[in-house]
Amino acid sequence: MAMATMAMRRAVALGARHIPAAAAASSRVVPLRHMSTDAGAAMEKIRAAGLLRTQGLIAGKWVDAYDGKTIEVQNPATGEVLANVPCMGSRETSDAIASAHSTFYSWSKLTASERSKALRKWYDLIISHKEEPALLMTLEQGKPMKEALGEVNYGASFIEYFAEEAKRIYGDIIPPTLSDRRLLVLKQPVGVVGAITPWNFPLAMITRKVGPALACGCSVVVKPSEFTPLTALAAADLALQAGIPAGALNVVMGNAPEIGDALLQSTQVRKITFTGSTAVGKKLMAGSANTVKKVSLELGGNAPCIVFDDADIDVAVKGSLAAKFRNSGQTCVCANRILVQEGIYEKFATAFIKAVQSLKVGNGLEESTSQGPLINEAAVQKVEKFINDATSKGANVMLGGKRHSLGMSFYEPTVVGNVSNDMLLFREEVFGPVAPLIPFKTEEEAVHMANDTNAGLAAYIFTKSIPRSWRVSESLEYGLVGVNEGIISTEVAPFGGVKQSGLGREGSKYGIDEYLELKYICMGNLG
Ligand code: ADP
Repeated sequence: MAMATMAMRRAVALGARHIPAAAAASSRVVPLRHMSTDAGAAMEKIRAAGLLRTQGLIAGKWVDAYDGKTIEVQNPATGEVLANVPCMGSRETSDAIASAHSTFYSWSKLTASERSKALRKWYDLIISHKEEPALLMTLEQGKPMKEALGEVNYGASFIEYFAEEAKRIYGDIIPPTLSDRRLLVLKQPVGVVGAITPWNFPLAMITRKVGPALACGCSVVVKPSEFTPLTALAAADLALQAGIPAGALNVVMGNAPEIGDALLQSTQVRKITFTGSTAVGKKLMAGSANTVKKVSLELGGNAPCIVFDDADIDVAVKGSLAAKFRNSGQTCVCANRILVQEGIYEKFATAFIKAVQSLKVGNGLEESTSQGPLINEAAVQKVEKFINDATSKGANVMLGGKRHSLGMSFYEPTVVGNVSNDMLLFREEVFGPVAPLIPFKTEEEAVHMANDTNAGLAAYIFTKSIPRSWRVSESLEYGLVGVNEGIISTEVAPFGGVKQSGLGREGSKYGIDEYLELKYICMGNLG
């Protein structure tokens, strides 16, 4: 990927005021000419389906940035420019908020059944068009097509689930303390929601916020990642087709801090929901204080994956491989530290390395690919920094450990042995295809190491002992625990972290509470 363009994309995401002229070209034409055959054909297919949207969505209208500036969306596997999308800022965001605010009154007044039907239709449309959003994800994010199709199903499942849940937002009647009174509790939508989402799940991180928000009557301004706006825009197009009213769902993208500040400063925005880095999450939480917004945050993890001596080795290898290498290690629930008990360390390491060797790195459009590129050059440099830090402190690279011969931001699936708690690989999220193996002696020591972090999102344990499964699951300071299983997220279960991994839960019957306020009504003098 051209470094200049990469730097520009990062600069825009970070809110640089001056965007290079080439990047600021206002052309709406998608440059297909220089694209590799596969990507070109894929883009044609998406365009033919009417799902190649390259403008923001405000009040039901597709719009450019008011000053005409654009940013490039690139394919991380090839560096090709896929499209230019508007580089929006505070003015467009203010209009999106105003549109969401005025639509809130009509959308929230519909019956739950009416909202449910529109959401269900949106779900049906996403599923019937599943290939186009999946292709978009592979093109702009890099994940293999199989994973992208999996994300379409997973992402759509939140719309389906909350279409159903819309009808189950019950209040309460409380036995009164005085006989001439009746005490009621109503659940009402919080209002306009600002939803800021990352690039690693371009669809699902949006649907699991927008699904419950729309279900209970909120309206939304979504800001997808500047790296992956095309999937978000295609999903928004399908929402309009499904009859979600203009203004209930708005999409703006571009200058992230400026958009974020506009959302934070608005008194009309009553809730911020965010998935992304801990650093930005903290800023948004602090920025919400001034207008006392409701906040949900899904931030970084540092997932331990504990393999005990009594584990079924095949189950442990399969589970930890899936938990580590999904999306090339770029998920916040990816196993970040594989803690292996001494008695099984050698055997596990041998079997695990063999499994990692079978992973095929390549362009996600190729069917055989199981590992796509990292999102960008900065991500590769971070991985390199972590590997250098570990080896300089005594860790040994057992497999991989360098950039892949394919170039770009491809990195070899890597296993590093003898990692210890003074290394970056132990302390921070590597967000790449690197599996650190950390030996331990006792269950107590493993739990201590697992909890020795400020993060608390996902944890995994592998053991055949039922008492140990309970004991360790209960001792882990994490929001999610997988026991003998490496892929655990589902729309029906609550997803979210403790400690500095975040606030609130997404998905499940609990997820909708994040978008609701309780109102207590006391009816007096009833005779
Ligand atoms: P990552 O490093 O995974 O990209 P970020 O937290 O930087 O995580 O990005 C997640 C989302 O937050 C993206 O949509 C990004 O544009 C947005 N973002 C980044 N900085 C800010 C900010 N200051 N205010 C609001 N949103 C931001």
